[in-house]
Amino acid sequence: MRGLVTKSTGSWYQVLDENGNRYECRIKGKFRTQGIKTTNPVAVGDWVDFEVEHGQQSAVITKLEPRKNYIIRRSVNLSKQTQIIGANLDLALLVVTLASPPTSTGFIDRFLVTAEAYSIPAALVFNKLDLFSEEGLEILQVYMDIYENLGYPCFAVSALEKENIEPLKELLKDKITLVSGHSGVGKSTLINSLIPDLNLKTGDISEWSDKGKHTTTFAEMLDLPFGGKLIDTPGIRELGIVDIEPQELSHYFPEMRKLMNQCKFHNCRHINEPGCVVLEAVENGDIEPSRYDSYLSIYGNENNRN
Ligand code: GDP
Ligand code: ZN
Repeated sequence: MRGLVTKSTGSWYQVLDENGNRYECRIKGKFRTQGIKTTNPVAVGDWVDFEVEHGQQSAVITKLEPRKNYIIRRSVNLSKQTQIIGANLDLALLVVTLASPPTSTGFIDRFLVTAEAYSIPAALVFNKLDLFSEEGLEILQVYMDIYENLGYPCFAVSALEKENIEPLKELLKDKITLVSGHSGVGKSTLINSLIPDLNLKTGDISEWSDKGKHTTTFAEMLDLPFGGKLIDTPGIRELGIVDIEPQELSHYFPEMRKLMNQCKFHNCRHINEPGCVVLEAVENGDIEPSRYDSYLSIYGNENNRN
């Protein structure tokens, strides 16, 4: 039988068959992992073949279909280990807020670089619109313009008051979307407003962050009532950027990618080289200073890792 993995706990997987039935599956023995070393060989979003074991309630996954794409992160406690968060994604959605607790541009940019590195289209939801004064709204617009101009769709919403949710629904319709966001931004509230029957627990920030440290993180695929699916990633606070070569990093900044190969030196790092068109663009305002800061910060981290 063929099915879609809709839940993964690390030890068992929920698989949805083509008739809408769900099975609890395990993996037996050695499993072909398509050459990627991860703690979970099968991930939410994977298409698999599976067999129901004779006379038993459980089923066994026997084959993994090739993936269109996937997102990996480094395990928090085992820095050498990596985990696949989701596979076959159409969109990566990051929920952020400029209200409390505010999301930094560094956090947003690391997410976008990760999505670019995996060739997954990304979009941003700016939540808690109801908390903004007129002045706040102007600042919000500045941020949204920065990312819209880079080609990332942006939505200002209030998940709590279900404000401006319709345009977001249009984007999500019929897609498989991975939803991410650091705790407290209102990701659960937003998912509840998109899937009213779900009733995800919201609000208890401290309990969630405590939990994240001790329990296995799992991702879950949820059905959108208007078509499409969401992959929620409770406990995953940040997607890791895994294995980006520092010299490749500028490819994952669309505004830098545009200028590629125009610097004087072909191996320009865009840090302090003479004849660097990226530095020129930062100076004349074509590249946002906050974006360039994120570039430097990720460059430094990735460089130290290698
Ligand atoms: P999560 O950790 O990202 O899943 O965040 P939650 O959905 O649990 O929300 C965290 C807190 O923010 C809760 O107290 C929510 O009621 C609040 N919250 C979520 N969305 C909004 C919103 O649009 N406006 C306001 N004012 N508060 C919100
Ligand atoms: Zn350069």
